[in-house]
Amino acid sequence: MAVAALPQVTPPTYHRIVSPTLQVPADEKVSVPVGLLACQRDPLLREITTTVVSATVSQAPTPPSNGRKSKKEKAAPAPSEPLIEVILHDTVIFPEGGGQPSDVGLLTCSDGDRVWSVVEAKRHGGHAVHYVRSKDQSADAALRAFMPGTRVGVALGDEGWKRRLDHTCMHTSQHLLSAVLDSRNIPTLSWSVTAWPTPCYVEIPRSMSADELASVQDEANRLVFEGRSVYVEVEELHGANTSDQAKLENGRAVSQVLPADYTGGVKRTVIIEGVDRSLCCGTHMPTIHNLQLFLIPHTESVARASTSTARLYFFAGPRLLHHLGATHAALTRTAGTLSCGPPLVPERVAQVVEERKRAVKRGEDVEAELAGMIARDLVAEVVRGEGKVHRHRTDDAANPLGLLNAISMTFAKEAAARGDAPPYLVVLSSSPSMQTAESTSVVLVFGADEAKVKEVGDMLKTKLNAKGGGKGRWSGKFTGVWREKESKVVDEALASLIGGVSV
Ligand SMILES: [Zn+2]
Repeated sequence: MAVAALPQVTPPTYHRIVSPTLQVPADEKVSVPVGLLACQRDPLLREITTTVVSATVSQAPTPPSNGRKSKKEKAAPAPSEPLIEVILHDTVIFPEGGGQPSDVGLLTCSDGDRVWSVVEAKRHGGHAVHYVRSKDQSADAALRAFMPGTRVGVALGDEGWKRRLDHTCMHTSQHLLSAVLDSRNIPTLSWSVTAWPTPCYVEIPRSMSADELASVQDEANRLVFEGRSVYVEVEELHGANTSDQAKLENGRAVSQVLPADYTGGVKRTVIIEGVDRSLCCGTHMPTIHNLQLFLIPHTESVARASTSTARLYFFAGPRLLHHLGATHAALTRTAGTLSCGPPLVPERVAQVVEERKRAVKRGEDVEAELAGMIARDLVAEVVRGEGKVHRHRTDDAANPLGLLNAISMTFAKEAAARGDAPPYLVVLSSSPSMQTAESTSVVLVFGADEAKVKEVGDMLKTKLNAKGGGKGRWSGKFTGVWREKESKVVDEALASLIGGVSV
């Protein structure tokens, strides 16, 4: 995963505290409120050293984080494994919020090189709580390691950073997309960070045409090419600037009010220069430069009991590159199978489908003709003989019983039409050309007398261990390799019929 020309450091102008009295708490004994966390002040910061404020044993496993995690992550932590809830003075691990899932990361204690996994972080009131896996250590050992006042390293680690970079790129792109949609009077009702690597979506009140979507994408990418900067304004939260004003400020309906349980006392506005102002606690790229946006060129309708909305799916950042790579690989593989260049794939696939339709039709025609020939041949044979006949075929058709049925139908018609056919009993069997112990051969028994048909069917069940049944006609399956021996069993069954096949 790579984003070309990713800024190495967040510019100092990114995080702007606009209230004269608001400060990031310097006292290491208190935790920095959510809204002013290191990950929110500097989204490119991957690690810091800080101090433990509190640690407790988690009472309940953390609920799954709305399906945004990979299966592997969902599987962890194991229920038997205690989790420790650690509050730090400050952190680079973002607690979920604003539609953005939680980061994962690592804690390192200063007294050794032991690394602890942070499986999730959540906001409790105004504070970020790290859920730390105690692994093989007892909960007591973990609590000793995280005594209040202990110096610890907190880092995203490689996996945590990849995850964060993806979430950050998708989140900032969502703000940009929603702003462009707002300018066209299409409000964003909600949005979702889906599991990597599927596209994220914004939910909007109506579906959009491909032309409209192309126009929104062009507008968004024009702003991307301009490299608009992104920055954050933070101010103290008080009566005058709570939710009502926030809603007026940007006019967007959803995710624009502070959560009811938020007690951090900070109001945070994310600004894309000249484009958008949104109340948001997420981590955001310092610029939209390089955040090229790709919209899936059709919206998906979502019908609910009383309303219908539409989802607009999008890619940006590392997820867009992954999508391009995966799509290209699939196209290249298909082109290889078809022995043509990738641009010719749609044409070649259409041709193959058309050829297949014709081949299927021809196969059906030839099969009908073959069924007729075999049926007439069999009728001639019963007229010549005693009325009992067995015919075995080799056939690799997906449904070999289909041909046997077609033969039986034509046989009945031909026999009736001739007038000189004696009472008959016919056994048809069919095996694939390459047989193993697991191969299936099919058997069809039909005749003038239902009782005789059943008698032969029952004999095949007993002597061949075939499975089957049916009224009037008996069809069954034989598992294994069909050899001369099996054909002989059928012949003997026919020969043993008491009184021949006369009715
Ligand atoms: Zn946001």
